[in-house]
Amino acid sequence: MRPPHCYVCGLSLRDVDEDQDLWSVFALVTFELSAEEKAVQEARNRDGWVGHPTGTEWFCVQHAPLAKERSHLHWRTALSELKPP
Ligand SMILES: [Zn+2]
Repeated sequence: MRPPHCYVCGLSLRDVDEDQDLWSVFALVTFELSAEEKAVQEARNRDGWVGHPTGTEWFCVQHAPLAKERSHLHWRTALSELKPP
């Protein structure tokens, strides 16, 4: 799992006071995966893989609601809407 870093505005742990509760500032949002990606992820989970899961991104509290509104979308679609290139 990567450390918290808002996908939209780039807010990271460096911007947060040490005594602040991480989970009050950042939220992990999981988007939809394609069938193929799901199969790969499930195989990784069975192997005890501990990397950053596909389709999962960090958001700050300000942007988490926008992300959650799109959690039913495929992650590529959702992320391109949240931060157009
Ligand atoms: Zn943000």
